[in-house]
Amino acid sequence: MKIMKVLFAGYESAPYYKRGGLGDVMESLPKALQGIGVDARVTIPYYREIKKQYHIKKEGEFYVDFNGKKEHIGIYSEKYSNVPFYFLENIRYLSLSRAKDKTKRMGQFAFFDLAIVEFIRWLGEHHKWRVDIVHPNDWHTALIPLILKKRKLEIPTLLTIHNLLYQGVGSLKVLDMLDIQDEEAKTLKRGVPANEMNILGEGIVHATRVSTVSPTYAKEIAKAEHDHNPISPFLIKRRDEGLGKDDPLRHEARKIIGILNGIDYDVWNPTKDEIIFHKFDIDNWEIGKKDNKEDLLRSLGLEDRPTFCFVGRMAVQKGLDILIKAVEKAAPLDINLIILGSGDTRIQASILKMAEKFPWIRAELLYSEDLAHKIYAGSDFIVIPSRYEPCGLIQMIAMRYGTIPIASDTGGLHDSISNGKNGFLFKKGKSARLKRVIKHALNIYKDSIRYKKMVQQAMKKDFSWDKSAKLYKKLYEEMIAVHS
Ligand code: ADP
Repeated sequence: MKIMKVLFAGYESAPYYKRGGLGDVMESLPKALQGIGVDARVTIPYYREIKKQYHIKKEGEFYVDFNGKKEHIGIYSEKYSNVPFYFLENIRYLSLSRAKDKTKRMGQFAFFDLAIVEFIRWLGEHHKWRVDIVHPNDWHTALIPLILKKRKLEIPTLLTIHNLLYQGVGSLKVLDMLDIQDEEAKTLKRGVPANEMNILGEGIVHATRVSTVSPTYAKEIAKAEHDHNPISPFLIKRRDEGLGKDDPLRHEARKIIGILNGIDYDVWNPTKDEIIFHKFDIDNWEIGKKDNKEDLLRSLGLEDRPTFCFVGRMAVQKGLDILIKAVEKAAPLDINLIILGSGDTRIQASILKMAEKFPWIRAELLYSEDLAHKIYAGSDFIVIPSRYEPCGLIQMIAMRYGTIPIASDTGGLHDSISNGKNGFLFKKGKSARLKRVIKHALNIYKDSIRYKKMVQQAMKKDFSWDKSAKLYKKLYEEMIAVHS
């Protein structure tokens, strides 16, 4: 059988540039797909940060017409873990990983999406690599399906939503830049002011299929009461058009499928992790975690106590205010709490304030892969009070390192944690519930037989990509079959 060729496109990918879970998935899913015979490749912008750190070989160049000008694109490429990566370079639009204002960011990614469509042609002409499926991720690449249609390139597209909060809503000028008439994209105007557009909404309408990163989140976002407007009309329409029709295939094709993310077991593996102080596995985790914890606590000037942690972006989504309230209510507590994260300055300030008040709290307000690995390995519990969580990787990583999650019962957290067996779930948004679960977890910790059993269950849980990569492969095959 012919090998399927899938081109991933997105804002970020580990190890080159990563700020959140999308970066992990862009690295690990294509790698898992390569492992099961899908020729998956990845395209991201060639940001300044990547250029500084990596010296990647130039492979070619081409031009695109954008905003009335001819723009040059350099193609740089190399293989990483058996996956070919392509970096598209343009000084004006693709150098900055965080363009300052919203309009600039929208223009930047409209440009990137156009560049990818031209790059698809380039791959066919120069490498005889003809793309079977384009796989855009999140709003940054959600204009690809529309641009492909406009160019009459009939390639099926799977749009994956990693976080519905970020939709790329703003000025319609982006369409002028792409030389797309308003009428060609009239769905844009639904649910947004007349002079604005919603890029993710456009992607949902034009993509062949839409997926998200856990089955529960897929259900949550298609509910009318889901609070992340103005996208709901697009999602609900998509859901309703599929429902109640006789043709089951049509139903399947319209609905948003949820496929749980996995984690890369080569990167997140306590038996061979080069970053952590002491390696361990399921047979010697007690001593392994104890040693890692000792070194971690010493390095942070903390005493030997049950240790809780948080790792993640400081965003409203992550519910750090809920954690702060729960800690205030529960104090005094005989624990350590280590918080690693960066982002929203107001959230950072409130975390610092809490850390000043309680000497057993450490706030590390930075992005550090190194510290993240050490925290996963050396903590006893990880607290995840997210208001919503499309999938969440930190609970999976933590469990792999024998660290028990205490998490909101939502989205991918619901799908990956079994309450009372390998972690704890509490009603989302409720600090009083979180406080109670922290106390309950501490009691379990003292009851060493129950605690050990939980750690083992957590470590045993399979979060490798094996199952999910197969589901993606099946979905691609279906899409190709329907298309041809
Ligand atoms: P999200 O995608 O919403 O950011 P996830 O839980 O899916 O959340 O993924 C977060 C990923 O980013 C994990 O790999 C986590 O280890 C990493 N991460 C987040 N913040 C930091 C940080 N400050 N330092 C190191 N790694 C971080």
